[in-house]
Amino acid sequence: MVALVFPAMPTVTLAVTGRPERFPVRRIFCVGRNYAEHAREMGGDPDAEPPFFFTKPADAVVESGSHIPYPPATANLHHEGELVIAIGKGGAMVAEEDAAAMIWGHAAGNDLTRRDLQAEAKASRRPWDMAKGFDKSAVVGPIRPGPLPDATLRCSVNGVARQEARLSDMISKPAAIIAALSRMVSLSPGDLIFTGTPAGVGALNRGDTCKVEIEGLQSATVTIV
Ligand code: MN
Repeated sequence: MVALVFPAMPTVTLAVTGRPERFPVRRIFCVGRNYAEHAREMGGDPDAEPPFFFTKPADAVVESGSHIPYPPATANLHHEGELVIAIGKGGAMVAEEDAAAMIWGHAAGNDLTRRDLQAEAKASRRPWDMAKGFDKSAVVGPIRPGPLPDATLRCSVNGVARQEARLSDMISKPAAIIAALSRMVSLSPGDLIFTGTPAGVGALNRGDTCKVEIEGLQSATVTIV
C-alpha cells in the first residue's frame, strides 16, 4: 500500500441501464462542431476541417436528475444536447473498422458551456478549458450497454423543444471520431466521448430544467438552481 498524505478522491462512476454495476469514468473527450447547422450557427464552416477535440475533467460529471447551481463566471450558460459514447476497450492508432468494437455503450449527455467565456477565448485565441471544463459541466444519463441504431436526439428546456436532429446527421460518425481521437491520445476503458451538438443551442437560467432525450436511451436531465 502506498501511503497518501490525504485520502484519494473516489473514482467517478455512472449508472448503467438494466444493471446494478456502475461504469467507472476515466477521461471525458468532446468533439467540436460536428453537425453542419450548428457549425454555421457558431460562425464556422462545417466542411473546413476534420473533427477537433477538447476535454472536461472526469469529476465534472453530473448524473441525470441532479440539481446544480448556476455556475460562476458566466452570464450565458448554454445547453448542448449530445450523444455520449462510453469506451470499454482501449486502443491507439485505431482503424475506423476496428472502432465499433471499442464501444461499451451509449448515453444521452449535455455539454454545458459558458458561452460568453468561449466567445472571449475564441476572440483572444485562448484555450476553451474554462468555458467547457468547469465544475458540473458534463451531464450524462445512464449508460446503456451495446450498439445504438440511428435515432433522434431532442433537447428541451422546461418542456419546450430547443434542439432536434438525427444522430446520422453527424459530420464525423462515431467510428471516425474514435479513429481520429485515437491518433491524438491512447483511449482506455472508462473514457467518455461527447460527440457534438446539433443546431439550437441556447441559454439556461436558474429554475430551468433541461432534458436531453435520445430514442432507446434514458434521458439526461438537469435542473439549474
Ligand atoms: Mn458540445
